[in-house]
Amino acid sequence: MNIILFGSPGSGKGTQAMMLENYLHLKRISLGDILREEIGKDSELGREVKSYMEKGVLVPDELISRVISESIDTQGFILDGYPRNLNQVNELEEIMRKSNMEIDVFIYLNIGQQTIIDRLSKRRVCKNCGANYHLENVSPKKEGICDSCGSELIQRKDDTPEVIKKRWKVFFDESQKILDFYQNKNRLIKIDGDGDREKIFGKIKEKLQ
Ligand code: AMP
Repeated sequence: MNIILFGSPGSGKGTQAMMLENYLHLKRISLGDILREEIGKDSELGREVKSYMEKGVLVPDELISRVISESIDTQGFILDGYPRNLNQVNELEEIMRKSNMEIDVFIYLNIGQQTIIDRLSKRRVCKNCGANYHLENVSPKKEGICDSCGSELIQRKDDTPEVIKKRWKVFFDESQKILDFYQNKNRLIKIDGDGDREKIFGKIKEKLQ
């Protein structure tokens, strides 16, 4: 099965993608995680994408294109954070067509703006495995330390109020065209993304069945 998880920043797509990865044993491809890893390694790609990510704008398509064509797996995957504009939709369609594959499900996690601000400003992520926490709702057992791998939890540089606003606008400007595309292909599943992660995951599983 090939799945896309789509939603605004803070919609919980990263968290749900990790839960689905464990549940379905499919490869999870998170563009944001891949790019942050490259920045951490100070690779050439990392240096190229850093300033875009810190500003909360999209990284140019030609850089993303390199990453995505190396990551797509013919054994099935869960895409998190891609596609993010119509050009990327078309590129993905082309990759899928060449490999004789299809996107089976496009899951849209829909949430309100207040939830986004609350989730992102109180989010902490593991700098090693990328697991997500929330200062109030999903706190780790030991403060500042990841439950899964024991590494340090940090606040992402783009989780500041100003950059959150910018990221939301970027999402808002591009999202409708993408939603229309998958709706027309009859692949769109809309999920209410407000509420706790287990409840949302339950709704996703129900729809997938
Ligand atoms: P995310 O972790 O999904 O919130 O992504 C963080 C940032 O990475 C975004 O604000 C963009 O700067 C960049 N990014 C992630 N995925 C893409 C993509 N598909 N196209 C362009 N930029 C991306």
